[in-house]
Amino acid sequence: MALDKLWFDPEQLFIGGRWQPPEGRATLPLEDPSSGSGIGAIARGGAADIDAAVAAARAARDGDWGRMTATERGRILSRIGQLVAARADTLAEIEATDVGKPLKQARADALALARYMEFYGGAADKVMGETIPYLDGYTVYTLREPHGVTGHIVPWNYPMQIIGRSVGAALAMGNACVLKPAEEACLTALAFAHIAAEAGLPTGALNVVPGLGEEAGAALAGHPGVDHLSFTGSVGVGALVQTAAARNIVPVTLELGGKSPQLVFADADLDAALPFLVNAGIQNAGQTCSAASRILVERRIHDALLSRMADRYRALRTGPAVADLDVGPLISARQKQIVEGYLDRAGDLTEAARGEIVGNAPGGGHYVAPVLLAGVTPGHVLAREEIFGPVQCVIPFDDEDEAVAIANGTDYGLVASVWSRDGGRQMRLAKRLRAGQVFVNNYGAGGGAELPFGGVGKSGHGREKGFEALYGFSALKTVAAHHG
Ligand code: NAD
Repeated sequence: MALDKLWFDPEQLFIGGRWQPPEGRATLPLEDPSSGSGIGAIARGGAADIDAAVAAARAARDGDWGRMTATERGRILSRIGQLVAARADTLAEIEATDVGKPLKQARADALALARYMEFYGGAADKVMGETIPYLDGYTVYTLREPHGVTGHIVPWNYPMQIIGRSVGAALAMGNACVLKPAEEACLTALAFAHIAAEAGLPTGALNVVPGLGEEAGAALAGHPGVDHLSFTGSVGVGALVQTAAARNIVPVTLELGGKSPQLVFADADLDAALPFLVNAGIQNAGQTCSAASRILVERRIHDALLSRMADRYRALRTGPAVADLDVGPLISARQKQIVEGYLDRAGDLTEAARGEIVGNAPGGGHYVAPVLLAGVTPGHVLAREEIFGPVQCVIPFDDEDEAVAIANGTDYGLVASVWSRDGGRQMRLAKRLRAGQVFVNNYGAGGGAELPFGGVGKSGHGREKGFEALYGFSALKTVAAHHG
């Protein structure tokens, strides 16, 4: 998509209902990952812009937005969802250009954003407190109240989905949001702000400040006017954001990385499992926090399953986003370098299969063909660290205990799945696996809007999605009334 088709100016920020250039009119280059070419510029917001955005959000909380009933809030969110769905194709084109996602994946992200707004629109007036039996002469009840101003720092890999789950839930509870999208991909965040305003979201309820992490991101994380932080991104930056939150004593939700396993037992329905095993590794070119980058296979079926996965890998085609193939480019030259660096460390691992980069893929694009690795030991660096590229490791195991030990043997704990027809095993492993989500005989890479999502260990803490997110984006107040 040519940038002149955008209906907003990507060199501007959205603050207090107004489109404006950042202080100093600074910009950052905008690149199309499919070609590696510069295609324009985006705003480089900084600390002064974050100050203005936080002030606008506070004014919204103290003004129209803060006074609105939950039902009215919900109606606006639902309207936003309808407008997003109606423009799914356009949003997909924008995202495909900005992130390099094949069009069908980008369209799925747009529809997921619409679904989040619909879900949280419907949920906004269904969050209730409780009454608590207490001493004689008292009536005690609880209220769920918004934190106030919430800061949202999101990465580049699924901008629309992550905005939906985090900003959607925060707005549903009546918070006013300051959103800092990633410097690599901020266009759909700006498009979303435009659509939200069109749907009637009051001035200042959502403010968007693109910019560098160490500038706008750090300013938002450390801002004393922010009452809650939601961060999605890397472990290292998550630690910085949590440290900043600690200084201001504000709650923080961290959605970080993963090294998620799918466990395949000999009694599994392999025909059903196969597409899930491969797709969960190569979706979004493996740049997915919940990518199933480890496939743990019972040794008895290891060779047979590996050969079937390898067949699928050999058929995978990688190319530009607009070609809408199985795999698009990585987000940047740097990301490509990181992934190739891991592949260089594969050493004596067996490359079971590699997909193809199509001949007409532009030379400057950041392409890495999907790679399936076998002979991987659980301790190998490629089996422990998040690669964030289209690389899957196949690891054999002999029994349930060994499978659990390998699955739980990384620093992460985001998603896991169990493929088996044995009901007892399904239940046992769902309990024993160290993860925020466990799928049985399927794999949802995070699942839908309804399913609480988040990690344990270095995958982070706090939950987004589902009703659980509404609890996270609100504070509980207890009212104890003595009436004799
Ligand atoms: P990143 O941590 O580099 O950047 C994420 C966001 O943080 C960006 O908006 C960036 O500008 C900002 N940022 C960078 N430095 C900052 C600072 N000093 N202070 C405040 N903000 C700062 O992550 P990334 O490379 O963009 O994303 C990839 C990572 O995100 C992977 O580890 C992936 O697993 C993780 N991720 C997790 C989830 C999840 O839900 N668990 C979802 C998507 C991505």
